[in-house]
Amino acid sequence: MHPIVTVGSVAFDSVKTPFGEASRVVGGAATYFSVAASFFTDVRLVAVVGDDFTEEEMRVFAGRRIDLAGLQRVPGETFRWKGEYGFDLSTRETTYTRLNVFDRFRPVLPDPYRSTPFVFLANIHPALQAEVLTQVDGPRFVAADTMNYWIDGTPEELRAVLRRIDALLINDEEARQLAGESNLVKAARAIQRMGPRLLVIKRGEHGVLMTRDQGFFAVPAMPLDTVIDPTGAGDTFAGGFMGYLASAREITDAVFTRATIAGSALASLAVEDFGLDGLLGASPKVLNQRFAAFKRLTHFEAL
Ligand code: AMP
Repeated sequence: MHPIVTVGSVAFDSVKTPFGEASRVVGGAATYFSVAASFFTDVRLVAVVGDDFTEEEMRVFAGRRIDLAGLQRVPGETFRWKGEYGFDLSTRETTYTRLNVFDRFRPVLPDPYRSTPFVFLANIHPALQAEVLTQVDGPRFVAADTMNYWIDGTPEELRAVLRRIDALLINDEEARQLAGESNLVKAARAIQRMGPRLLVIKRGEHGVLMTRDQGFFAVPAMPLDTVIDPTGAGDTFAGGFMGYLASAREITDAVFTRATIAGSALASLAVEDFGLDGLLGASPKVLNQRFAAFKRLTHFEAL
């Protein structure tokens, strides 16, 4: 089992769905990632919050395998994001993104973090992703996520990160946008040529498509009768995926496919409630049951 270091947003989210609203709840890509990955291994969180982030709110990390020595607290406001979902929850409009304390954030990795073998660059300014990566000595496996906000806003910095990573995990719309290609298979190949050998394309309620070198592996999303809030599903998937990889003795193709199921299982638990609640309320036992449910969902006997 190996630890993972991650950098990304820790945020106050406001979310509106057809089922209700949540306002100023703790979220952020690195938050979802850390809570999810901590089901499998130790996580070292590099991020910043403002002085409006209370001790009470810090409790989302408590009692989990999440090291907060790299989480800075500075004067100012915490990153804020608001999104609104359409009727079928498959479309989302960003109402606002306020970087706040991330605008002046300079990540400094505590010394023990520098030898972390697994690195996850969660969604944040690609220049910050690069600064963290530069401070890790010879990592074994580096994965990253990004978002339309950065694909549009900071394309050069993003390209520089892509050249330095082993895996990219993004959603289908972002994959098409990044590659400038509507066909997903061609988009995947184009992105692999930008650097990452492994690409995981997250497709919301349609599941996940993974490609390493040439072959594909696909997993459907768990059919659920209660989906309340898909926010953070992608980051939760990434946490399950990376956590599983980092907890494996060696990384083989079979481990990559099981990591895809681990990510999908955790994401399916996360969307069943608002914000982090679905994830915070999940136990390892429930996760194992979801993992088994995925086996039943996808298994068939070939004649
Ligand atoms: P997801 O639903 O997986 O796309 O992730 C949503 C999470 O990402 C929310 O908790 C937001 O706080 C965070 N987020 C949204 N936009 C950004 C951005 N531009 N940079 C970093 N994090 C973001």
